[in-house]
Amino acid sequence: MLKQAKDRHLLKHIEELGAQIQAGNRRALARAITLIESARADHRKEALALIQTLRGTGRQALRIGLSGTPGVGKSTFIESFGLMLTGQGLRVAVLAVDPSSTRSGGSILGDKTRMERLSRDPNAFIRPSPSQTQLGGVARRTREAVTLCEAAGYDVVLIETVGVGQSETMVAEMSDLFVLLLAPAGGDELQGVKRGIMEIADLILVNKADGDLKAAATRTQADYAAALHLLRKRAQDPEGFPKALTVSALENQGLETAWRDIKALSDWRREHSHWNKRRAAQAVHWLEEEVRSGLLARLTDDPAIRARMEQAAQDVASGAMHPDLAAAEILNRLFPTSAD
Ligand code: GDP
Repeated sequence: MLKQAKDRHLLKHIEELGAQIQAGNRRALARAITLIESARADHRKEALALIQTLRGTGRQALRIGLSGTPGVGKSTFIESFGLMLTGQGLRVAVLAVDPSSTRSGGSILGDKTRMERLSRDPNAFIRPSPSQTQLGGVARRTREAVTLCEAAGYDVVLIETVGVGQSETMVAEMSDLFVLLLAPAGGDELQGVKRGIMEIADLILVNKADGDLKAAATRTQADYAAALHLLRKRAQDPEGFPKALTVSALENQGLETAWRDIKALSDWRREHSHWNKRRAAQAVHWLEEEVRSGLLARLTDDPAIRARMEQAAQDVASGAMHPDLAAAEILNRLFPTSAD
């Protein structure tokens, strides 16, 4: 009885929070993201209830993944680009995925003074990266935060990450399109961008195309345009994509062209149903990831299974048992087959 009353109270609280988010209340959105970041079991339950409440709002933002190494000008770009978009009456949310913060607790992207003007804009919402120990946890939090931002009616959600490790692939897996920001460089540095990243980039923006750096930026852009041309044209792309452009985030140059190209690409993908297919494939991918990580968590959380694993580890180390046989025995115990 008491539990039912408590559940009803909780549901009411979650429904209120959901309504505030949909009404565009930024503080409610921030509170909700704090809720989804929590690892506490009761918070997790509330977070899932909230996501369930917000399903079916029918709102869809354009999700743009953005990556670049530290110092390339990500914050400057997001601020200028974001202000340009809010200037056109669009609402913009910025979420950060910072793998450095998951490892060391220190964050490259979390600095509060970043994007000061954009953060004061009532049509913008900026959320720094959560510090969690696993990139998997950050992935889930960011995906859920994207869902919340969409329900809140943001037109564009920028998901920013530092160009290291797996975080780019992860961000690309939750974006409609992916932008890579580069700095002007000597031609030989082309090798520095991994092929995998070239393959997920829809748009390469060579930033700092101003002043003394302008000529180098133009050369770098030409090099990347040639390199992109060598990559096979992808089925989900119209003619001319993936594309390389020069921009200056500092001097607001090329940003409108970049936005026009982003729109052209996303419109084309919508018309040719690549957009929906991509989102559907991403949903399946994240379902599989969640089940996989949920299973792993149960393996390590369950004391009986852990004890069995420890025993098996000893047996395997001492040579008393063959690793394959020990693994098969544990798996059979977890998932008994009808033949057993
Ligand atoms: P982040 O680490 O990628 O977020 O890079 P920041 O946005 O903090 O920029 C790093 C440095 O590059 C700062 O000193 C910026 O002023 C500078 N910067 C950023 N964009 C431009 C640009 O378009 N032109 C020039 N010349 N400098 C820029």
